[in-house]
Amino acid sequence: MKKYEVVVCGAGIVGIATAYYLTRKYGQKNLLLLDKLPPMTLTTSKSGENFRDYWPQTCMTEFCSHSLDLMQELIETHGDVFKLRSSGYDFVSEKADREIFASAQAGTQISSVSRTSDATALRRDYPWLSPQIRQVAHINRAGAVDVYALGTLMLNQARAAGTALAMGEVTGIEELPDSGYRLHVSAAAESRVLETSSLVLAAGPFVNGLARMLRIEVPVTSIRQHKFVIPDPQAVIPENMPFTIFADSQHLEWDDDERELISEDPEYHWLLEEFPPGLHIKPEGSGHIKLGWAYNRKVESPDWKAASDKHFPNIVMRGASRFIPGLRQYRNSIPTPIAQFSGYYTRTRENWPLIGPLEKPGLFAAAALSGYGTMAACAAGELCADHMLGAATLPAYARNFHPERYHDQEIMAEISTLSSDGQL
Ligand SMILES: Cc1cc2nc3c(=O)[nH]c(=O)nc-3n(C[C@H](O)[C@H](O)[C@H](O)COP(=O)(O)OP(=O)(O)OC[C@H]3O[C@@H](n4cnc5c(N)ncnc54)[C@H](O)[C@@H]3O)c2cc1C
Repeated sequence: MKKYEVVVCGAGIVGIATAYYLTRKYGQKNLLLLDKLPPMTLTTSKSGENFRDYWPQTCMTEFCSHSLDLMQELIETHGDVFKLRSSGYDFVSEKADREIFASAQAGTQISSVSRTSDATALRRDYPWLSPQIRQVAHINRAGAVDVYALGTLMLNQARAAGTALAMGEVTGIEELPDSGYRLHVSAAAESRVLETSSLVLAAGPFVNGLARMLRIEVPVTSIRQHKFVIPDPQAVIPENMPFTIFADSQHLEWDDDERELISEDPEYHWLLEEFPPGLHIKPEGSGHIKLGWAYNRKVESPDWKAASDKHFPNIVMRGASRFIPGLRQYRNSIPTPIAQFSGYYTRTRENWPLIGPLEKPGLFAAAALSGYGTMAACAAGELCADHMLGAATLPAYARNFHPERYHDQEIMAEISTLSSDGQL
């Protein structure tokens, strides 16, 4: 039977980053990165690949900023292989004085934001926006990155340092009497058993499935979210427009006939309710645009099969035409082909990740990266490695993201005051 020092279960961007920092920062040997699927083909492949250092809470701002610093270090060593581009984010609002997240919180004070609320400047500099827009808040440290190239770089580096990569699904975990774990792994041609001293659960939406094999419950839920890419034949969105987010909640616009039809069918009444802030659009190159809106709040048991939502592009286009009126022409005939990407935001209730030791010795989580796992993967992987190999000091945010935080009264008091979870 094969024995490892460490097995990281999950070769998404978070598991890969964990293997990278274990090997490259700490020289960890005898490490296996194990996945049922080829690396980065589950949630990671659905990412919109955007990043920002603008978050409502200090812990999230510092976490994402540090992750960007780590990406910058990788660029300094390996060159511009994963195309980190700081094109900024524009949060737009119909209110001149509103804060982007529900109330001004400490995290938002740290990042660099330039605000425009002068009507003449708005019309001159943002002619694609509706005249109803009264404020643009530009986040400077924000942009896009190629997550597949980032993950490939870290995976190759970890493998060059001795990390083994194998395909197989963990179907059972037993705790060994002295210490460590025995994993039952099912692969295409065979089933096998292996043992490890330490185990990292980096299984994205399936983290709870693995934890339950050890009778542990991790406090995460999974909610399906989507994005789609379409051609923009009328060139409504300028090719250099920053990633643009509508910061206000809204009710979708319906004409009288549509409203009557919806009212008649209880299954669709939700279309008349208030939709949350966060609808976003960006140019995707070659005359295409990408749109997303994480309005779904329905918790599901995660499923391995991808499932798209046929209503999603129409709903998003309706919401988007409120702040970019040029998109109105696409409302009833969305340009095709429509490429839709669907995956889970696996998250805790406060939308902070779970990184660190779980309640059994040698067992760790690097999970619940919700809608920010691409931008935060490096800091998440490093933090998990720091916990495992006993770093002399941990960053301040380690306590906020510790899996045991729900027993920490100070952290719980902080969580109870949060008025925004920063989700986009
Ligand atoms: C639509 C959408 C848009 C997004 N946009 C952005 C964005 O713009 N910016 C950003 O920063 N983030 C974004 N995210 C979030 C980001 O994609 C995720 O946070 C990140 O990919 C999570 O990575 P992960 O490694 O934790 O999970 P995953 O990528 O899901 O990897 C987990 C791996 O574990 C494996 N696994 C699970 N169970 C088992 C088992 N029993 N045995 C073996 N292997 C197993 C799976 O096969 C999978 O490969 C977006 C997410 C979605 C869904």
